[in-house]
Amino acid sequence: MGALLVNEAQELLCSARNQVFAEGHYNSAGHAEMQLLDRLEAEYPAQDRSALTLYVSLQPCLMCYGRILLAGITQVRYLARDKPGGFTGKHLPAAWAELATRTSICQADVDDYWIRLAEQAIEQLQDRPGMRKRVVKAWRGEPDT
Ligand SMILES: [Zn+2]
Repeated sequence: MGALLVNEAQELLCSARNQVFAEGHYNSAGHAEMQLLDRLEAEYPAQDRSALTLYVSLQPCLMCYGRILLAGITQVRYLARDKPGGFTGKHLPAAWAELATRTSICQADVDDYWIRLAEQAIEQLQDRPGMRKRVVKAWRGEPDT
């Protein structure tokens, strides 16, 4: 999974990819969006976020959805829907629903070719049962093999 952040002129500000198991240990916050927002906040603390657009390959999960709201990102466009894991924003607690009124998160309005390409890539790369086993091993303190 990957994420890009662009400014109003569509210039690339920063990018990130999933790092959940990238450094030999489990990073539960290693989703591409989380990595990208860490980078934004560390490298561009003075950046006005109101005109930024976050592009992601896959619909954000619950954790990333919340982080996007807290980070002040107002435009998010994803390629592939994530039916089992994507968060739609429904049933938010009141304070979060208020935050969400200023943020637009939806599927990118692009040629179907790009949507299908992202869906195929994710289908090939994403091994949910395998990932679940790795995460449970990490929770037990067992090394990732
Ligand atoms: Zn996520």
